[in-house]
Formats: sequence, structure tokens, C-alpha cells
Amino acid sequence: MTIPANSNATLAERDLRHVWHPCTQMHDHGEGTVPMVPIVRGEGAWLVDAEGRRYLDGVSSWWVNLFGHANLRIAAALADQAGTLEQVIFAGFTHEPAIRLAEELVRVTPAPLQRVFFADNGSSAIEVALKMSFHYWLNRGHGEKTRFIALSGSYHGETLGALSVSDVALYRKTYAPLLLTPLLAPSPDAYEGEPGETPAQTAARRLGELRTLLERHAHETCAVIVEPLVQCAGGMRMYHPDYLVGLRALCDEFAVHFIADEIAVGFGRTGTLFACEQAAVSPDFMCLSKGLTAGFMPLSAVLTTDEVYEAFYAEYNAGKAFLHSHSYTGNPLACRVALETLAIFRDEPVLERNRQLAAHLARRLAPLREHPQVADVRQAGMIAAVELVADKVSRRPYPADERRGLRVYLHGLQHGVLLRPLGNVVYFMPPYVVTGQELDLLVDTAIQGIERAIAD
Ligand SMILES: *Cc1c(COP(=O)(O)O)cnc(C)c1O
Repeated sequence: MTIPANSNATLAERDLRHVWHPCTQMHDHGEGTVPMVPIVRGEGAWLVDAEGRRYLDGVSSWWVNLFGHANLRIAAALADQAGTLEQVIFAGFTHEPAIRLAEELVRVTPAPLQRVFFADNGSSAIEVALKMSFHYWLNRGHGEKTRFIALSGSYHGETLGALSVSDVALYRKTYAPLLLTPLLAPSPDAYEGEPGETPAQTAARRLGELRTLLERHAHETCAVIVEPLVQCAGGMRMYHPDYLVGLRALCDEFAVHFIADEIAVGFGRTGTLFACEQAAVSPDFMCLSKGLTAGFMPLSAVLTTDEVYEAFYAEYNAGKAFLHSHSYTGNPLACRVALETLAIFRDEPVLERNRQLAAHLARRLAPLREHPQVADVRQAGMIAAVELVADKVSRRPYPADERRGLRVYLHGLQHGVLLRPLGNVVYFMPPYVVTGQELDLLVDTAIQGIERAIAD
């Protein structure tokens, strides 16, 4: 019997001969511990492999997809743009998709954000925000400000600057000798709150600790960078919006910038278009990517204020210009796709529908609170997470090397569902086009997967 040229096995074998994958110990695939799944097409919330098997995309293909795979409306806009203008140098030249996208982003974000700088992925947006904040203070005569404050458990990407302000050991530890040393403020993460403390009380206590840090270090600090409301890669840890209100006030009081990394939580994920809205605050820098193009194209944007922009605006020889250039800055295809994404938010009741889906998800997950190996079930809009523990009372986690989450992943694959736990945290972040029935399938498969993962 010959294996067909386009079978899963053939494509996987060819892949493993040359391709090196992200966030992957290739040995897992090389030794057959984890299958390499070749996807040939997608439709709605589903991915289809080379042999026609379907997988419900419970993680929006790494949190990027909003309106389904191969969404026809976005695909048509992309095709139209590709036949018109695919790319043009973005220094000295501009184009309507970028102009309109900047106008739209300014319109939908908090009022003080008036200036838009494009890059082409989330980590690069973080690099831009860090450099811009540092350079702002330098241009204002405060070159002594060179440090950043990040939260424990934070994740802001994996280029060296972005990784510097990240605190997930898995990604950071190995490369630590190459990185800047940020100041870490304890996360307001409600799961790590004191027994009996409400999330608002945890937020208040953590603000007190941030104040202490600022009292000591504000003079050398450019900015505080946070993921508003949900620390995603750090385990979908969630916190009370009061923290953002207090953070805004502290940043003003101590003259440091507030950088909001909305790369994962932006574009409706937490129930509002942007997570910052739930605290009614405006950051000095807002970083956007992932959902910005509904999962179609790599693109990111950093929004900032006129006040920041003006610190760079000077006669050429003053040498104050912001310097950060990517070849594909403001790529017209990506900008056009982002515009279509925003048009869908305008034309369709996306957030309203998400509220119903989120309520459905909450109902289905509620019984897991009683589960003996579940310490926490938490949710912020279209992000929900279940924290598995070895011991419910002490909240002792399963040792990482037991790879319990991987068992849930493998169970999901066998049953046509893509769930990709972060360590012991089983989470749900489906595309917004998911149906109630599909959510049921996600949750049922996750529960079966959890049972398998905790057995022995
Ligand atoms: C994914 C992510 C990033 C990095 O974006 P990439 O496009 O993967 O480089 C930064 N911050 C947050 C909060 C993210 O979730």
C-alpha cells in the first residue's frame, strides 16, 4: 500500500525534515509523542487536515482569529487589495488603507490616543512602545529614565526587548543573560490573592506595592507595562479593573508612562472592544495586534498621544526623530484586512453576540468549580480558564514535568477539538463565530480530556 502524497503522514514527514516550529521541542514530534497536524483549509471555527478530519479551533489559532477561518468578506477585501497595491515603502510614501486604518483606530480607541505607528507583529509593537517611551523622556531632558516596570507573570512577546519585560520563566529564563532587567511589581492576579480577599481588595493591595516601587524608582523609570485585565500567556490570570484605574493615577503622580499591551485582549476579547474601557482609562501607549486583522495577516499598531508625538517633532538637525523601521511597516494588504475587520465590528452586533456566547460558556463551565482537581474557573468575556491542581485545598499545582495539559491537548486532537492548555491551565478562546453547540463540544471534550489528564 502506498501512502498518498497529500496524506497527513506524508506532509508531517516532509515538514519535520526541514521546518523548525515555534514554542516546540521538536523531539516531541520527531519521536511521535505529539502528532504534527497538516491543515489544508479552514472554515468558520473549524480547521480541516489533509485527510479531511476537522478540528474545532478552541484557541482561535493562537488568539488571532475573530470571524472564522477563510472569512469570505475579509478574503474578498484582501484579494481586491492584492490586485491594487500589495506593498509600498512607508517612508516618504503613504496609501489610503494605512490612512483610513489610522483614522479608524483613533476613532475606536480612547480619545487622547491620536497618533498611530505601525509594525508587523505584537512583539515589534512592544519594542516600539518601549523605545518610544524611553526616547520621549530623553527628548524631554530625562535621559536618566532607562528602566521599565512590568508585572510578575506578564508576557509581552519574545524579541529581546519584549522578552525583557516578560516574566514567564519558560520563555525568559534561558535568555536572561541577554535581557534588560525590568523592575517587577507583583501582579494583581486575583487567583494569587490572600484567602478571603476580593479581587478588588487584591488590586488595591497590589497598587500599594506598586506605589512603593515607584517611590523608590520612578526617577529612573520610563513606563509601567501591563496586559489589561488578563495576563494571557502567564496562564489566563485575571484581575480587577480597579487596578488599571489606580495604575493610571500612579503613572500621572510619578511621571511615568502607562503602556497597555492589548495585543491579546483587544478587539472584543474581554467583552468590550478594548479591555481598558472597563476601567475607563486611557494609556499613554496602546499596543494592538492579533485580532487587529481578525487572524488574516501579521500587523500591529502602537497608538499614542499628541503629547508624546510632539516631543519628537523638531527641526531635523535636533536629532529627535523616532527611529524604528520595519520593511513591511504599514503593509497595504494587512491594513486593508484590518479595515475590513473594523467594518465587521461596525456592521454586526459582535460584542452583543459575544455576551451571549460568554454567558453560555460560563453556564457550561460552572459545574467544574466543584471538581476535586479544579482550583479555579475564571472568565473575562470570550476568555475562560480552568486551573487544574494536584490538591484543591492547598492549590498545589501538578508538577510541570507531568505535562497534564499536554494530555488534554492530545485528547482534544483525537476528538476533533483544538485545546492547547498553558501548563495546568485549560483555557477557551474561541473565534467569535462559534455557535452554542460548538461551545458545548469544546467544553465536553475539555472535561473528558481533564478526566484523562488527572487519571494516575
Ligand atoms: C502574543 C502576545 C504578544 C506578542 O505578539 P507576537 O505577534 O506573537 O509577537 C505580546 N503581548 C501579548 C499580551 C500577547 O498575547
